[in-house]
This record gives sequence, structure tokens and C-alpha cells, in this order.
Amino acid sequence: MPSSPDPCRLAVVGGGIGGLAAALAAARAGLRVTLVERAAEFGEIGAGLQLAPNASSALEGLGVLADVQRTAVTPPRLVMMDALSGNRITELDLRSAAYRERFRHPYLVTHRTDLHAALLAACRAHPRVTLFTGHTVTHAEQDGSRVHLHFEETTAVLTASAVVAADGLHSRLRRALVGDGDPVCSRYVAYRGTLPTGRMTGQMARHAASEAVMVWAGPRMHLVQYPVRRGELYNQVAVFESDHYTPDSDDWGTEAELEERFTGTCDAVRDALPLFSRERRWPLFDRRPLDTWVHGRIALLGDAAHPMLQYLAQGAGQALEDAVALGRALEEFTDVAGALAAYAERRRERAARIQTGAHRFGEICHVEGMGATLRNALLGGRSPDDFDDISWVWTPAPETMPVA
Ligand code: FAD
Repeated sequence: MPSSPDPCRLAVVGGGIGGLAAALAAARAGLRVTLVERAAEFGEIGAGLQLAPNASSALEGLGVLADVQRTAVTPPRLVMMDALSGNRITELDLRSAAYRERFRHPYLVTHRTDLHAALLAACRAHPRVTLFTGHTVTHAEQDGSRVHLHFEETTAVLTASAVVAADGLHSRLRRALVGDGDPVCSRYVAYRGTLPTGRMTGQMARHAASEAVMVWAGPRMHLVQYPVRRGELYNQVAVFESDHYTPDSDDWGTEAELEERFTGTCDAVRDALPLFSRERRWPLFDRRPLDTWVHGRIALLGDAAHPMLQYLAQGAGQALEDAVALGRALEEFTDVAGALAAYAERRRERAARIQTGAHRFGEICHVEGMGATLRNALLGGRSPDDFDDISWVWTPAPETMPVA
């Protein structure tokens, strides 16, 4: 990394979806941006992502929606099924006039790699963005008008007017600035992956052909399925609560527990299990909402600011909203510190509400026994055009709208 006598104006730490989106938004707002990523190469691991209309609106604000839509699928319906009985609980019509009128942006499902690649390509094409891989930030020093970033791999120092910490769930910068310890493990774990759509047979093939997002809700477990990448791949995520959670150990949420927890589920769910990649399991974490995201000239963004359980499918969506709101604030304020403060103030409450809401939605999804019977009865009477309960999440946030 060249140590420049003319320090870059904004440094972004982390080249995930949040960091790339933030770099792009800031560059589009006129700032010179340097992004540093610890991995040797940019990339995403994991499988699919749902992007609700608030997320696709944010992608439009970043100028990459059309690019993402080239490979994303627009599912016609979001269907909630009972994982035990196999009966439909409720569904939302994602192509209805009511949906279009209310949200004005598509509901998309995409492979993470495809979304990440679209953001990376836009950053690479932007003359004000400089990208570095293989740079792990160890700590940051602030001296009033500048922030100095230090790295594991080199003695070079990156100096910037301000820093956006988009270094994810286990953010080092958050740990140093906020000091609120480790993320909280929910005792739930996910197995996820994609498989070629052509490999599926029977009921699974029929569900894949329908292009719907299928959520199979069961006692302390669920399964999510949807197509990605022009329908060529089928994404599956199996989630369950482990009875053997042990902090500081990986010996819980095992394959054997996965099989045990899914015993008694309907055929469609059982058929899906042998098709899961078992190479890696993903323990699921969140944190309590933070009171402040800005410390001096360093602002948190994405999972570093508001890690959430994935039950509302909003983590990446909120990171994208953060990025657009940051860009809007940078357009509005000539002073970068003022822009960071405005960004955080405008975003904090909504992200906190979604963090808490995700927790609650997980509880509804995983309820057992009589609770599940009540849930099914209550949701069963809903119309597929009734978006009242989810509208507050899916409606694009005002702070992401263009400055008038
Ligand atoms: P990350 O993706 O974690 O990126 C952080 C980056 O920072 C990484 O590239 C990392 O290498 C880098 N980094 C870390 N430390 C340093 C350092 N010290 N120096 C330099 N670089 C560093 N969200 C949705 O919107 N829809 C969904 O459907 C959805 N489904 C999900 C399903 C599951 C099972 C899970 C676990 C999550 C899901 N999410 C979903 C959430 C979403 O994946 C995350 O919220 C999102 O990817 C966070 O992006 P980020 O850029 O903030 O963090």
C-alpha cells in the first residue's frame, strides 16, 4: 500500500456486501475512497440471499440493480408451510398489484456471489475507489482530524479523514471502540448450500419450478428453499436449535443433531436433507442494538453495527440501506464527521427495530405444540395481498431516498 502524502478522504474496512456498497456510495457522493479487505481475494461464502423491496431499492440507489437482476430470480410467492404436516400455512403474492403499488421494487433472490460480484465490478469501475486485499486492520488511531489504520501484514499506515468499519459480525474495530465483547450465539445453527436445479426430482423439482420462496416452519427448526442464478441453482438452508451448545467448542449442532431434529418432518422436507452440503455449519449470532455507531471519525456499518438473526432476511438489506444512507449524508454535509453522525442517527432506530424483530420472527417460526397450532390458525386466514405486518420492514427507508 503506497503511503500517500495526500491522505484518502474515506477508508472502508471490509470488502463484504456492506463494505463494497459503502465504498461505492461514498465514491458516488464525490469522495475518494480506499477499501481494505483482509482476505487474499475478494469473495463471498455461503449460498443464497433474499433481497426484499427495501434492499432492491437500495441497490437501485447504488446504480447496480439492473446488474443484480441479470442473474437474480424474481419469485412469484413467499410461502410458509408447516414442516411437520406439509400443509400450507400462509403465503404472500410478490407479483400482485397490491405488492407493486405498495413497494414499487422487486423482491429478488440471488446467489451471494452474484450480488458481491456486481458491487465489486461497480467499485472497480469507479475512478474514485481504490481496493486492497490482503490487508487486515489491527487497530485505528485517531488524532482529531485524521484516522490512521494499522495492518497485520505491513508497517504501512493508511491515513484517512474518516473510516467506515464494515468488518462484519466479529468486527475488531467494534470490539476496540464499543467494548461489548463477543456476539451472542443463539444456539441455532444453519447448514446451507446450492445444488443444480436439474438434480432434483419429485416434490422438490415441482417447488423449484414454481420459483417460490418456500419456508418450512417446524418446532425449533426450519428449512428455506428458493432458486438462484437464473433458476440454474436451488438454494437450501436448514436451521435448528442444538441441545448441546457449548461456548468455545465446535462440537454442537452436528450432522447427527440435524438428522434427529428433522425426524418427523413431512416428505418434502425429508427429501431435501440428503442434498445438503455438510462440509460447514454456521452458528447463528446477533447482538443487542447499540446506542451509537460513531466513535470520533469511525462509523460502524452492516453486521459490524447491527448483527441480526437471519429470520427476516434483512442483514445484507440493512447493510445496503446503511450504504445508501451514508452516501446521502455525504452528499448533504461538506464535513465528513458531520455526515457520519447524521448517517448513524438516521439509521440506528430502524436497524435496531429490525434486529429485535428478527429475533421475534424466529420465535414465531420455531414455536412448538399448541403455539404452532395457534400460529397456523392465525396466519391461515390472511390474504396473499395482505402486507400490513411486513410493510414496515420492506418499505424503503426515507434516509435512503435521493436528497431533494
Ligand atoms: P461481512 O459479509 O461479514 O463482511 C465483512 C468483511 O470484512 C469480510 O470480507 C471480512 O473478510 C472483512 N474483514 C473482517 N475483519 C477485517 C479486518 N480486521 N481487516 C480487513 N478486513 C476485515 N441477509 C439478507 O439480507 N437476506 C438474506 O436472505 C440473508 N440470509 C442469511 C442467511 C444466513 C444463514 C446468514 C448467516 C445470514 C443471512 N443474511 C441475510 C445476513 C447477511 O449475510 C449479512 O448481514 C451480510 O452478509 C453482512 O455483510 P457485511 O459486509 O456487513 O459483513
